Amino acid sequence: RAKQDRKGSAQFFTAAMGEALTARMETEQRLRLALRERRFATLLQPKVSLAAGTLVGFEALVRGVRVDGTLVPPSEFIELAGELGLLDQITHIVLEDVLAALPRLRERFGPDVQVSLNIAARQAGDVAFMDALTQDITPDQARGLILELTEDALVAAERFQRRVLPLLRARGLRVSIDDFGTGYSSLAMLSDEIADEVKIDRTFISQVHQRPRSQGILRAIESLCGALGIAVVAEGVETAEELDYLRRHTGIRRAQGYWFARPLPLDELLTGPDPVRLPPPRAQT
Ligand code: C2E
Ligand code: MG
Ligand code: MG
Ligand code: MG
Repeated sequence: RAKQDRKGSAQFFTAAMGEALTARMETEQRLRLALRERRFATLLQPKVSLAAGTLVGFEALVRGVRVDGTLVPPSEFIELAGELGLLDQITHIVLEDVLAALPRLRERFGPDVQVSLNIAARQAGDVAFMDALTQDITPDQARGLILELTEDALVAAERFQRRVLPLLRARGLRVSIDDFGTGYSSLAMLSDEIADEVKIDRTFISQVHQRPRSQGILRAIESLCGALGIAVVAEGVETAEELDYLRRHTGIRRAQGYWFARPLPLDELLTGPDPVRLPPPRAQT
């Protein structure tokens, strides 16, 4: 009887694996086709200054576009694209979109807006790719760009520091450490003058007003970055309570999150009303 069960589960396992494999192959096919037809869209999520209550920039977030026009989130294709060697092409497309958007964003939101571009871990240490990606960026464009890399990308790629970072610096590009606090070796990276900005991962922002440990972590990051001259951004602000905590109890000056604005298409940003919801700071009592 036990034998029968084993056999049953073995068959089930095989069927499930077959299904997973088929699903993966289907996704791969769709991804390749989407690339051939350039069916990707770049959304822009506002980044705000908590102190001034103004918009300071945007993060570029890629979406796949299905044939019917609906959008596919990056969680459904970025990893596979990386494994298949297709992410570099996608990143080139996103940068192209960002560079095309930049003059229009400057016109609408001021000459100092900055747009962040996400770079995957495996791309960050790839000297040839990073060189090719950034070689045509003019100094004026570079002034309006930030490259977001994750901690793990920076730790894993010693080559990044030795060969990629000097290249980016020479081209006037700034570096931000994304999802800060979720990787490892954060302190070394801060002291090595890699980052101009860190984005505190949203796990430390979520419900921060009632989580003493997150509060402690925010204080520590803030004081470290303050001492080192690194700008700090709070990611994933979703509620008025979280925002209120940041404003009253921390000196963190920049934030991003659904509470202010969702990622939006360029056209909507240019033609719509002021995209950012941010009341003036409350008077301290
Ligand atoms: P990320 O770089 O950490 O981007 C922030 C993600 O958090 C975005 O998800 C954004 O829409 C979401 N987000 C923003 N505010 C809030 C909030 O208040 N609450 C919550 N729950 N989420 C919020 P998205 O657009 O789905 O992107 C997910 C991840 O996919 C990104 O995380 C990034 O790692 C990756 N990604 C997106 N675009 C690109 C790209 O062009 N290239 C690469 N390599 N990766 C990308
Ligand atoms: Mg990011
Ligand atoms: Mg992030
Ligand atoms: Mg994240």
